[in-house]
Amino acid sequence: MKAEQPAEGISKKAEYEDAVWYEVDCECGSPDHYHSIWIERDTKTKLVTVEITTEVTTDFWTQTVPEWIEKIDSPFINWTWQTMAYAFNETIRRARLIGRVLFKGYAKYESTVMMTKQQAYNYSKAIEKAAKELDP
Ligand SMILES: [Zn+2]
Repeated sequence: MKAEQPAEGISKKAEYEDAVWYEVDCECGSPDHYHSIWIERDTKTKLVTVEITTEVTTDFWTQTVPEWIEKIDSPFINWTWQTMAYAFNETIRRARLIGRVLFKGYAKYESTVMMTKQQAYNYSKAIEKAAKELDP
């Protein structure tokens, strides 16, 4: 398997003399799931570092009340129910998150970025290439 140019699912956002910035999209298509990758060379120490950041959300899959009920035939009632159930569930999810931070001092969350095999290959090769190029 070869790294593509341009690469599937990974885009170069910026390039500077001492840094390269890539963004990796999630296969599910959600703009909320991504990896932002900075490969940077420290001008003083000359060390090359890779920093991967992502954005996390509430545990949207947790539903206190079901957001989808098959028995509802009316599209309007169905939409109304989904909207209200989602708003209720999201309020509960946020309240739990705030409670955990307030009383336990930490938030537990996870972040997922799904990749195709080609995308994973492109991802690793992009980091490798940038790290090699920045290495003095
Ligand atoms: Zn996703």
